[in-house]
Amino acid sequence: MRMPKLIKEKGATGRLHIDSHLMGESLVSKKLLARTEAKEYFRMHPDINVIKIGGQSIMDRGAAALFPILDVLMEAKNKYKILLMTGGGTRARHVYSIGVELGMPPGVLSKLGDKVSWQNAEMLAVLLSKHGGVKIGHGDNLEQLTMFCQLGYLPITYGIPPYGFFEHPPEIGSIPPHRTDCGAFLLAENIGAKRLIYLKDEKGLYDQDPKKVPASKRNSLKFIKRISAKALLKKDLDDLIVERPVLTLLQRTRCLREFQIIDALNHPEYIWDALAGKHVGTIIHQ
Ligand code: ADP
Ligand code: MG
Repeated sequence: MRMPKLIKEKGATGRLHIDSHLMGESLVSKKLLARTEAKEYFRMHPDINVIKIGGQSIMDRGAAALFPILDVLMEAKNKYKILLMTGGGTRARHVYSIGVELGMPPGVLSKLGDKVSWQNAEMLAVLLSKHGGVKIGHGDNLEQLTMFCQLGYLPITYGIPPYGFFEHPPEIGSIPPHRTDCGAFLLAENIGAKRLIYLKDEKGLYDQDPKKVPASKRNSLKFIKRISAKALLKKDLDDLIVERPVLTLLQRTRCLREFQIIDALNHPEYIWDALAGKHVGTIIHQ
């Protein structure tokens, strides 16, 4: 932003006055906002890889699904800086369904569902505590992520963003639109993370939900290896492997230019590939 002088001496008294470029502005003017664009955005944690572990797709499947993935993460954290974020899953869906029946608005449902992603973070922190897993909140510890990683810890936090009663009205229905995929995305962008990787139970994005296609018709499924957020939104698919608002947000991000969704359930070793920047799932880009 062009801000020639921040502090200016004024008047005969010699007092200092702050002459800010935004002084007296509504912060709504498009022209003014355009001038606040940075040439290059500051990245707080440029080496951190944000990994979101699916609630329904991974954690709800229990030990058999989880342990091979945790084994990889425990080894990978010695080579890569990783922030692990947790999804909600089936328990969140259960509380949403009760709330929906009771006519609860999205902000209330958001308050009800957020504890599940918290529980999953707690579970992982307990499981990994003796290997350096450490559960952190969404407060001051987020400035310390790089430090945790440098000291050999694996920081773990819940993926749900802190909207609660401030959740945005959804386009359709009443389920809070910003859940844990969105939380991981928003945090990765704002800390200037290196990569964002979603661990799920399918190879990546298809033209429809593979679980709703009978085995006999699986051949007709089209796998989408790489696509822009804009092109994917244009396809207007009925269902997606990632929360839909992420696609709108990805068109506006200044640091994070893409993310990858991988099948960590059947291929935990893909986590190594994705961390190395290899394309083993679906990449959705700006
Ligand atoms: P998570 O627990 O990681 O949040 P979800 O269960 O919410 O995962 O989302 C992953 C699921 O999305 C997959 O297991 C898959 O069944 C479903 N899905 C829906 N639409 C698609 C699609 N177009 N392509 C691939 N998977 C899809
Ligand atoms: Mg999900």
